[in-house]
Order: sequence, then structure tokens, then C-alpha cells
Amino acid sequence: MWRVTGHDWVVSLLKGSIAEERVSHAYLFTGPPDVGKGTLALNLAQALNCLGEDKPCNECEACRKIFAGIHPDVRMVDLHYQALLRDETPAEQKELRINTIRSITQEAGLKPFEGRRKVFIIQDADRMTTKAANSLLKTLEEPPPHVILLLTASDTRLLLPTIASRCQVFVLRLAPAEIIEEELRLRHGLDAERASLLARLSGGRIGWAICAARDDSILKDREDTLRELAVLPKMGRLDRLDYAQRLVRKSDLMRETLELLLSWWRDLLLIRGGSPETINNLDSAASLEEDAHGYDLWDIVTFVKAIRRTQRELELNVDPRLALEVLMLDLPARSN
Ligand SMILES: [Zn+2]
Repeated sequence: MWRVTGHDWVVSLLKGSIAEERVSHAYLFTGPPDVGKGTLALNLAQALNCLGEDKPCNECEACRKIFAGIHPDVRMVDLHYQALLRDETPAEQKELRINTIRSITQEAGLKPFEGRRKVFIIQDADRMTTKAANSLLKTLEEPPPHVILLLTASDTRLLLPTIASRCQVFVLRLAPAEIIEEELRLRHGLDAERASLLARLSGGRIGWAICAARDDSILKDREDTLRELAVLPKMGRLDRLDYAQRLVRKSDLMRETLELLLSWWRDLLLIRGGSPETINNLDSAASLEEDAHGYDLWDIVTFVKAIRRTQRELELNVDPRLALEVLMLDLPARSN
């Protein structure tokens, strides 16, 4: 059984290709962070090597080994893997380097050890350096017959077009809140109220919702961050610049914080636009309501655009400090 939520059309296409033995040698799954790209790739790796009837059965030796990350023919390549290879910490890994890709292209030349196919899952392929991407191209162009490459990427603009053009591409969209809510209730045993809250807060990212269901500190950290973000507009220029610099130093939290900032300001926009029932941050409805009427509508629209612009700039490797400082200075003043 596929453990993928909200991407039924992709699953049925993949099932069909496996049943008819029309499997591509390379797939690229793109979509926002935590939308389920990695889970889908892992499930596909299982289905390709599954020994059971209804693939992936999740019960045979191959499925279990792949899920546990110990199958000799399925290699998960990500920044953690690279850290192990280089004997460094995961935090030191900013991009996927050529030596990491070389290690898998060499391994791809070997016959499968116990499975039917060798599968390489390259997570965050958009983080490959140009050299690394070029070295992967050769394998993508002429892969050994037993090799299948599964790439995931959040931002395809950072991928070489020649990489994407050699893969079958599936674009994964954010899942509707109802589907995530149902998943949390039925498969993860959450009560209706908590399932509904986490589904809305997730903004369509199933991976985030499942992590938050398992780990209470995620919601707590989120609340702390929201409190900080709420006072930003009341702070002076220097304090806001100082906040930008602190955020840059906590680089691993920078994207998540910006995502939260965006969800807050988008909710303000929804309230001012007369659709308060569709806000994401359900648990902060009262503060949002109060906040929304403190700003000019046009200022809210402009700032939502500024947050999106900043997110794009960060993905394109603009100096984060500069991008965040500009954003902090763009924060609108309250009109009352
Ligand atoms: Zn199986």
C-alpha cells in the first residue's frame, strides 16, 4: 500500500507503469517542502523491488529493508548521507557536491546485490552544484538498465534544465486540509479537533502535519515564533534589522520562519478580504482579527508580495542578510 497522502493521481500513474513494466529510468518529483516528495520516492523504490503481490506490500523483506534504510540496492542520497561520506556534520552541508554524486554514479555501475533494481533517491536535487549536476547527467543520459534514479526538488528553477528534461516529472501540489485532516484522524489516531487544527496549520504540507502530531515541541516553537513576529511591526528600525540578523544566524529556521510570516500576513489579507473562515492559523483567530484592522488593506497586499519576493531571492542565493533586512524595513506601519 502506498503511504502517500493527497497525490492519488501520481500514485495511480506510477502503479500503472509498474504493472505494465513501463517504468522510466528517472523520475523527478517537485513541489513545496514537506508535501510528500520523499515519501513518494521511498514508496516507489519499495514498489520497484517489492516481492509481494500488491506492490509495495510494506511487509516483504525488500519493503521492510527499504523503509528502514538498510536495503543494499536502494540508496538515499541527501545532505545527511553526504555528511556521513565526508565525516562532517549535517549542518555543514549546504549543497550536494560532485564527489557525492560521483560516489553514486560509480555504485550505479554495479549489479543489484539482492533486489531487482538499483534505486538512487537523490533528495533536494536542486541543491546540487553545477559540477555535481553535470556529473549526474551522464548517468541520466545512459543509465545502466537495472538503475532507476528518483530525484526530488522544491525549486526546479535551481535545477539544470538538462536534468529535468531527462526525467519524467511529477509536480506535487499542496494537499487540501480535509485530506490531511482525514489522514491524521484515521492513520495517526488524532482526535477531530487536533486533526483539524494541525491540518489547517500545515498549509497543505502533510509532512509537517505528521511531524507536529508526533512532536509537541513543533507547535510550541511555532507559537513562540508567531509571538516574535507579531511584535515586529511595533519595533523600531534598528530592532527590526537586529531581528533580521538573528534570523540569518539561525539559517536552518529562516525558511520556516518566513513561511510562518507569510501565512500570518496571508491570513490578515483573508480576514480583510471577508473570508475569515479560510485562515490557516486557526488557533490565533482572535489576534489575527484584531491585527487585521490595524493595517491598510493595500499595505497588507504589498507586504505579502514582499515576503514572496524575499523567499524567491533566498532560493536564488541572494545574500540572506540583505534580503531579510530589506523585508524588515518593508514592514508596514499600523494605521491605528
Ligand atoms: Zn513488499
